Amino acid sequence: MQTLWLLSPLRVEELVLVKILSYKYRLHTRKDEEKKNLVPFSTVVKGVLLQQLVQAIVAHFWLTTTTKASGVGEQPSIAKQILQFLIAMFIMDTWQYFVHRYMHQNKFLYRHVHSQHHRLVVPYAIGTLYNHPIEGLLLDTIGGAISFLVSGMTARTAVIFFCFTVVKAVDDHCGLRLPGNIFHLFFQNNTAYHDIHHQLQGLKYNYSQPFFSIWDKLLGTYMPFNLVKRPGGGFEARLAKE
Ligand SMILES: [Zn+2]
Ligand SMILES: [Zn+2]
Repeated sequence: MQTLWLLSPLRVEELVLVKILSYKYRLHTRKDEEKKNLVPFSTVVKGVLLQQLVQAIVAHFWLTTTTKASGVGEQPSIAKQILQFLIAMFIMDTWQYFVHRYMHQNKFLYRHVHSQHHRLVVPYAIGTLYNHPIEGLLLDTIGGAISFLVSGMTARTAVIFFCFTVVKAVDDHCGLRLPGNIFHLFFQNNTAYHDIHHQLQGLKYNYSQPFFSIWDKLLGTYMPFNLVKRPGGGFEARLAKE
């Protein structure tokens, strides 16, 4: 049955369509992905699962041993929730900028922790959270906890905030410049912006993640870039100062 489905004309058409569409909007060619990435897909999947498992265990103990953050109770007004959401975005960005930048400056941390994420020179969505478990704890778990506590949001708002943050991070690593992508309309810090950071020449720039580019701009680590059409289809994010 499985074989029949795999060979069905609909499946073939689907695959061809996905291939054409993704090729048209890719920031790197498939050849680039195979040539530049330093880790096979299967290792990335295992790494992501391990990182997620560690974070889930930590979050479970954190939630079951602290507070009554069960989401029960009154939700504040929509205006207050939006304000809390914006504060949490700013706190998350601030935490991630400085920790991320430090992980590049400290040779030990870079070599033993953060370089894992940079084995994907050509990022793809599944590899978004291909991080060392310590990086997951430092950047995401602690960053998320601080954003949650400082903003004062309820657990219910926090669920929306954390989902939004993950979706944004996946979009930043998807490697596609799809037309009408709402994140690209609202955020200057988007797929191409983070793609620059994954390229070898852009490694010391565009540390800001996941939402704004404020800290890069204030502290001189912003790398302007151009999106240029690649002959044969797709776009390329190129450093403006190359
Ligand atoms: Zn980095
Ligand atoms: Zn990344």
